[in-house]
Amino acid sequence: MIRHTTALIMIACMLLSACGTKDESTSELVGSSSGSITPTQEQQNESNANDTVETQTTDSPSSTPTSTDAHSDQESLDDEEISSTEKEDTGESSGSQATENPIEKKYHMNSNYYIKPNDKTSDSKVVLLTFDDGPKEEKMINALIDTLDKHDAKAIFFVNGYRVKSHPELLKIIHERGQVVGNHAWDHEDLKKMSSTAAAKQVTDVQKIVKETIGVEPHFFRPPFGSGNNALKATVKKNGMLYMTWSNGSLDWDKSTKNKPEKVIQNVLDQLNPGSNILMHELPWTVEALEELLSKLEQKGYTFVDPRSIELEAR
Ligand SMILES: [Zn+2]
Repeated sequence: MIRHTTALIMIACMLLSACGTKDESTSELVGSSSGSITPTQEQQNESNANDTVETQTTDSPSSTPTSTDAHSDQESLDDEEISSTEKEDTGESSGSQATENPIEKKYHMNSNYYIKPNDKTSDSKVVLLTFDDGPKEEKMINALIDTLDKHDAKAIFFVNGYRVKSHPELLKIIHERGQVVGNHAWDHEDLKKMSSTAAAKQVTDVQKIVKETIGVEPHFFRPPFGSGNNALKATVKKNGMLYMTWSNGSLDWDKSTKNKPEKVIQNVLDQLNPGSNILMHELPWTVEALEELLSKLEQKGYTFVDPRSIELEAR
């Protein structure tokens, strides 16, 4: 009987390792085409698109294309209040049980996407760290997490579904190394320009693939370019997630910071406030900047909020 079981285990191991090899080779192939550090067409498009929209939120009000986003952010303040009447908390807690032991919800997000302690007497000098647009490359993800670990910090990795589909093994790394996966829609497109049905599919398809890959659904959603509307927010809520954009943009996606980690750090520090919700991306210069950035934040007395300790209702 024991021998029989051992034989079965050995067969299972052989099968598993065969799968692993296959995954790796696929990922390398995909990685070399779409996830490389030198901007491929896809990345180029993405950062161009980012340029247009994300500038205004973080940077100066350079009118034309940005106005949509700034507008969307303002809109959201009202929307949040409307949606907060519903109580969708239940979906969240049942899902998070699967992650690990329940973590006390000590923080909440306000309507400007800042993270605030529930207990007003406790330290408000906290930041939320987020990395968007992955998962792209194993090397970058591991380097980011190595640095996060060194500082005992957790972050949200907002992923796109199409990237998860190409690199499910990278999503597993993020999850298995104890970081938090967020939903950044299936494609990196402006959901506001889609029908509400199409936009909803962008959200739910990511919930599905993430659940299939790591066994739990995301509890946080950030729309590409920070662009959303009421219908999208309702979908996000229905799926048990907290909707957020950001309150501190590192501009690491912008041409001005390309290959300049020191600029990424400076941009974050320039906009730093208690509760800053810091938008960064899975980019080589951000990877390089992170160690010094986290050290500087600590020197200024800031600590890093564990995303799992944030309530899933904004208030
Ligand atoms: Zn993005």
